[in-house]
Amino acid sequence: MDLSIIGSGYVGLVSGACFADVGHNVICIDNDPGKIETLRAGRVPIYEPGLEEIIHRNVSAHRLRFSGSIREGVDNSQVVFIAVPTPQQPSGDVDLSFIEKVSREIASILTTYRVIVDKSTVPVKTGERVAESIKRYNRHGAKFDVVSNPEFLREGCAVGDLMHPDRIVIGAQSEQAVDLMKKVYEPFMAPILVTDINSAELIKHAANSFLALKISYINAISAICEASGADVEKVADGIGMDRRIGRQFLNAGIGYGGSCFPKDVAAFITISEQLGVPFNLLKEVQQINEAQKDRFLKRIRETLWVLREKKIAVWGLTFKPDTDDIRSSIAIELVADMLGEGAHVVAYDPKGMEKAREVKTIGDAKFVATALEAVEGAEALVITTEWRDFANLDLSVVREKMTTPIVFDGRNLFNPETMRQLGFHYHSIGRRPVRPG
Ligand code: NAD
Repeated sequence: MDLSIIGSGYVGLVSGACFADVGHNVICIDNDPGKIETLRAGRVPIYEPGLEEIIHRNVSAHRLRFSGSIREGVDNSQVVFIAVPTPQQPSGDVDLSFIEKVSREIASILTTYRVIVDKSTVPVKTGERVAESIKRYNRHGAKFDVVSNPEFLREGCAVGDLMHPDRIVIGAQSEQAVDLMKKVYEPFMAPILVTDINSAELIKHAANSFLALKISYINAISAICEASGADVEKVADGIGMDRRIGRQFLNAGIGYGGSCFPKDVAAFITISEQLGVPFNLLKEVQQINEAQKDRFLKRIRETLWVLREKKIAVWGLTFKPDTDDIRSSIAIELVADMLGEGAHVVAYDPKGMEKAREVKTIGDAKFVATALEAVEGAEALVITTEWRDFANLDLSVVREKMTTPIVFDGRNLFNPETMRQLGFHYHSIGRRPVRPG
């Protein structure tokens, strides 16, 4: 099939590449000329494991190309996906101006039947507004259908998630659109759930909010573990072995960040209030998330006494491992907080440093080329992202390099007993701190 995707970011580019890889002809469109130029030159503007290889393979096979023109996409594809940003406004409302603009532009070009698919995460009832807008600006009176097809990929394993999805949700109101969408997804051999458009839109916000809730739930338990001397890892194992609950998303840490959870939870709170059915449980989810980072910082402060002039190494800047995405990263917030208290922060991240260097709030941090360089002479090490690279380091070398071997592990990457034996004063989340000796 001939497909186009408007918006070639984390969702649009990876989706486009995977659609091409299963045999569709895909045009990935973006209004950022630099991004299109980079892609046409064979370079990939984001880091996502396996993505570069898939893009190169499909560009060579002439199934994938890049364009700055929405017209080129609409004229040459049966199905047009929209994967533009839907950022949060200060009010908590979702900024739908990107979607609205693209809808108008598509409408003005439409000459023949097209399925317009919203893949961006949007508030329930957005599909109705998109359809109204296209109808209003549809100069040639061309037929069209609007479909909601929320995306559930996780950054860091987006290629695998797209190639082997748990489910495909198709929210549509016409059989013709459903049939075309089923053809798009047939090669993926995944379960398909067909719903109305409103339900599909709601599924995405409900799913992300539930995952955020699971994280905040275990984080709230981690605080109880710290106060009572229990071990949150054991508690999470014990809860998670119950198949009704499951172990995933029960990893205690310094909280969730990234471009989706914080914004989607905030949006769902606002949407529910606007619908007259406030979802107050989610406000608690947000509050726990914020408190988790604050508790961690308090622990750093209490242990080091004063942060001013202390050399603190930070491992991890991205919001999670295996991505270069630093949007709403708790690591960045923590670095900014510690710099604000006068600490000398020396940071390292395997993929996120290029983007982190541009963040003004952490402009005073020093960025170094390796994790070991970061700990050279450090009075404390703060671990903020659970990259495997860190887990594989020789910790005795780390200890040797540090002036005072104090570790604050915000992602429970290491075993406390091992750390104790290696001579570290080790703090983690929801587990007893250990001292050497
Ligand atoms: P992104 O910022 O990485 O990419 C969006 C792209 O759209 C950018 O390249 C931007 O230049 C382009 N764009 C903006 N306006 C445009 C226009 N008028 N014409 C053409 N291109 C335009 O964003 P993302 O992370 O890919 O997220 C996109 C949507 O998908 C959001 O609604 C997000 O909530 C949702 N989502 C994201 C993820 C994720 O993990 N990143 C997962 C599921 C859903």
